[in-house]
Amino acid sequence: MNFKEKIRVIPDYPQPGIRFKDITTLLKDGAAYQAAIDQLKEQLKGKEIDVIVGPEARGFVVGAPLAYALGVGFVPVRKKGKLPSETIEANYSLEYGKDSLAMHKDAIQPGQKVLIADDLLATGGTISATLDLVKQLQGVPVAAAFLIELNYLEGRKKLDGLDVVSLVQYD
Ligand code: IMP
Repeated sequence: MNFKEKIRVIPDYPQPGIRFKDITTLLKDGAAYQAAIDQLKEQLKGKEIDVIVGPEARGFVVGAPLAYALGVGFVPVRKKGKLPSETIEANYSLEYGKDSLAMHKDAIQPGQKVLIADDLLATGGTISATLDLVKQLQGVPVAAAFLIELNYLEGRKKLDGLDVVSLVQYD
């Protein structure tokens, strides 16, 4: 399957000069969505994974079906203030200012092997903060999986040598 063909690129969104990768065109195509999750599962073969952690909102769209396919649990990471029980937090930088991501304190047991999943790896800021949350709970990150990787932003370099798998890359 040529996944790149299924992703719509929107010029100058949300700002002039940005070429936004819109995955909704892939998601609405049942065969493409299923093939994308199956292929990520294939690329992760041989890795021991206990739980998948995904940041809102598009990390849920990749992480939850992958968790189902692998028969492991799914842990949502949300913006601060959205989760109902006790949380831990990690700050991350946005283009303008800062934001906080949160995860339930009891979401991961020490030593559990964790896969992080999101739709797209850009600068790596979101995933670094997610990694920080996993480490705070003494989870063991084994890899990160994405539909899309923007190679030119070098997000991988921010991830401390973590194994990264992605379906589609843009140079
Ligand atoms: P990062 O933190 O710079 O790696 O940005 C990754 C986050 O921004 C992901 O959670 C994406 O959902 C979102 N993102 C950044 N650029 C795009 C894009 O072109 N298409 C879709 N999402 C994007």
